Parts: sequence; C-alpha cells; structure tokens
Amino acid sequence: MTRTPLIAGNWKMNLTYIEAQALLEDLVENLKEAGHKADAVEVAVLPPFVDIRTVQTVLDGSGSGIAFGGQDISEHESGAYTGEVSGTMLKALGATYAAVGHSERRQYHGETEQVTNAKVKAALANELSPILCVGEPLEERKAGKHVEYTLAQVEGGLEGLSAEEVKKVVIAYEPVWAIGTGEVATSEDAQEVCHEIRDLLATKFGDEVADAVRVLYGGSVKSSSIVDLMQQADVDGALVGGASLKADEFAKIATYN
Ligand code: PEP
Repeated sequence: MTRTPLIAGNWKMNLTYIEAQALLEDLVENLKEAGHKADAVEVAVLPPFVDIRTVQTVLDGSGSGIAFGGQDISEHESGAYTGEVSGTMLKALGATYAAVGHSERRQYHGETEQVTNAKVKAALANELSPILCVGEPLEERKAGKHVEYTLAQVEGGLEGLSAEEVKKVVIAYEPVWAIGTGEVATSEDAQEVCHEIRDLLATKFGDEVADAVRVLYGGSVKSSSIVDLMQQADVDGALVGGASLKADEFAKIATYN
C-alpha cells in the first residue's frame, strides 16, 4: 500500500491566535521528541480561519512538515459573501487542505449535499485537497442503514468529479454519534464503512483511484484507540477533534507506530 497515513487535527472553534501559537510550538516539540517522520505519517492541523496566519508563521521554517488547512471553504471564489473565506485566500496562506461537509456544518449550518459538492469543487479548483466528511447519525446506525447513508454522502460529495480529481480528495468517515461523545466506534465498525467507501470508489472511478484515496476515521480518537484503528486495512489515518487540542496527546496519536 502506498498511501501515506494522515493524522489531521480539527481544532473546531477553539484557541485564540496566541493560544494557537503556544499549542503548535508544543506540538512541533512533542513530535520532534517522539521522532516523528513527516514522510511516514503526515500531520495536519485545521485551525479557525483567524489563527491560520499565525499557524503559517510558526510552521514556516520549523522543519516539522506539519500541513494545515481550513475547517471549511466557501463554494464561491470572491465577492459579496459576507463572512466567508475562499479557496484562493486559503491557498495564498499556504494551506494544503479544506474540510468540507463536517457534520457540525451539515447540522448547524444546514449544508446540503449540493453545497458540500460545490465546496469540494472549490477546494480542488484552488489546488487544495478537500477532506470530505461523511457519516451517519445514531438513528441510521440503529436501523442498520449506516453504510447506505454514508455512501450516499460520498456519492453526493464527489458528484461530477473526474477520476484524477477524486484522487486528490481525502474522505473522513465520522459517525455522528462518535463525534465529541467519547464514544469511539470499534475498529471493526470503522473498517466496515471505510472498506465500503473504497469499494464504491473502485466501482465508480476504478481501482487506481480506490488505491490512491486516503480514507480516515474520525470520532473521539485518542492515543489509546489509534493503534487498533490503524491496523485496519482501509483506515488510512484519523481526523481528531478534542484530542488535537493537547499537544502531547496529539503527538502520541500521530506517532502511533
Ligand atoms: C471532529 O471534529 O471531526 C472529531 C472527530 O471530533 P472528536 O475527535 O472530538 O470526536
């Protein structure tokens, strides 16, 4: 397998730019001490927009190899869209990623499949890799419809993309019931859905695409759960929320092996 694992920290709406600087400096130090090799496991952080310039400054010349990106991206390129941040702006800061369709965006900001798809395209148009977040709420899981529900979100998010474009997308399977609840899915639960996602990619875009795309698991990941998750054949990393706000814990997650 040639996919480089990705451990990405979603800081959500936490940390002033001063706190962000302190956390990131600690993280760089912790990763160095733990012998982190950026070519073996890629590490990324997704700060609030107002922290990104600070993050860029700390990382520039740090030699850490830590990448960064937005927690969201506007579907529009520029203009009268008050409060939004475009792909051009993120790219100009040196961002690599943009999360799209996080369940908190879908739930609290009414982001539809159509909006999510437009945001995936906006990221790609600016040479950013979208991290497309998908995953079922508890009711769907209880009804045994978690695979069907999640695959429909993957199809919706990737609608109209070429195989070459899909290769640049990262997909994060994040069951809604596991986000911020302390309820981590079992590694078998994660593998089941990540495998189905890869199968869908193979069917729709071919084996080369399915082999290239990184599929992450997200939902209450901690250093105590990462090893089992990473042993699963179709889990290529993790999207980490709460635990990414502690430099030592996040560094342990990123240096799981
Ligand atoms: C997330 O925000 O994507 C997430 C997985 O959060 P947590 O790790 O806190 O569940």
